[in-house]
Amino acid sequence: MGSESAAVCLRCVDCAADHALEYRLACAACGGLLEIVYDLARLADAPLTQAGRTGVWRFAAWMPVHDAANFVTLGEEPTPLLAAPRLGAALGIPRLWLKFEGALPTGTVKDRSSQTAVACARQFGFDAVGVVSTGNAASSIATYAARAGLRGVVCCYTRSTAAKMAHLHGVASSVVWYDGVYDDMIRPFDEAVERRWLFDGGATRNAFKQEGKKTVALEVFDQLGRAPDYMVYPVGMGETLLAGQRAWKALEAMGRIARAPRPVSAQSREANTIAEAWRSGGPLRPKTIGYTVAEGTAVGDMGAKGRLTLRRIREQDGLAGDAADEETLAMQRRLARTEGLWAGPTGAVPLAAAARLAREGALDPDAEVVCMVSESGLKGDWPAPDVRGQQPSLDVIRRALGRGDC
Ligand SMILES: *Cc1c(COP(=O)(O)O)cnc(C)c1O
Ligand SMILES: [Zn+2]
Repeated sequence: MGSESAAVCLRCVDCAADHALEYRLACAACGGLLEIVYDLARLADAPLTQAGRTGVWRFAAWMPVHDAANFVTLGEEPTPLLAAPRLGAALGIPRLWLKFEGALPTGTVKDRSSQTAVACARQFGFDAVGVVSTGNAASSIATYAARAGLRGVVCCYTRSTAAKMAHLHGVASSVVWYDGVYDDMIRPFDEAVERRWLFDGGATRNAFKQEGKKTVALEVFDQLGRAPDYMVYPVGMGETLLAGQRAWKALEAMGRIARAPRPVSAQSREANTIAEAWRSGGPLRPKTIGYTVAEGTAVGDMGAKGRLTLRRIREQDGLAGDAADEETLAMQRRLARTEGLWAGPTGAVPLAAAARLAREGALDPDAEVVCMVSESGLKGDWPAPDVRGQQPSLDVIRRALGRGDC
């Protein structure tokens, strides 16, 4: 099948050297991170979306997969973009929108990058794809690998939730369960990737894998018809923020929008390296992290991706915030009660961090803000609430409604 992709080459973010579109994880000249460059004139000529396609392939021209035979999909629909004026007013962000990624097949934003990871693994002739994960990336990569008929060899930490572990156990062809945190497992994994044992489905450096996450921005543009003033992203490795902002910047360069939204990074306070660097104005300092309920943001050493994330936030006049676990859990409940969205803790971090930035006066109250809610709460572990049963009767319903006599 013919090529629709407008991808033309790989470019180093540090020294700007160009490389052919091959499976390459670092700049040959300086070792820097690579990003994929697209022919903007071709993107501008084509309609934004392609009819009859699902998932990230609705934006096939914006993806680095040249043969549609390699596309992999589970029939993903665009995720809901919901106006949330009531919750927004209460938080001091009245023009608030929520982009609910819990609606994707495995319940998280990871399904966007897994589509491009697995399609690119096929494109480059790999029969296995892997990732190191606290749960979400592993189950998503394994899901799309299964769908494509490839092996999914994924590493997951043993502190993940029972629901995530059960899902992973069901869907992955091989799971390496590991003790410790992401930062401990990523080095041996990168060594296996270096040996070409498997396609790198991880977030540290593979320019091909991450491309699917651009579609979160492209979808918002398609749904809203304009760019918001701010877009709030949860940040683990920074991939979603970087990819989303690359798409917005391309739309800006094409003249489809006047100005890309300002990016807002949201992290757990336990792993708030970007927020600390942004507040201090200094460089990114890795930290050793313990446990956080916001598993998807539990990265203490973001490496080169972190430095690039911080650089882009500074270049694009962005903001960086964080939220303590208690704030995140309170926001999770508030979001559910106020808007009916049951998010996992990581999914509630952007809203919790944005609410704090609004309280501190860093976020303009007149601004239009799109806040990602990056995961469903249905994959979490929750202690059963402490409840006492009552005898079934009409009276218990009357009391629950607060009705006196009727
Ligand atoms: C992985 C993950 C993130 C963080 O994304 P990055 O692109 O690595 O910064 C956010 N939310 C959820 C639910 C995740 O699983
Ligand atoms: Zn370079």
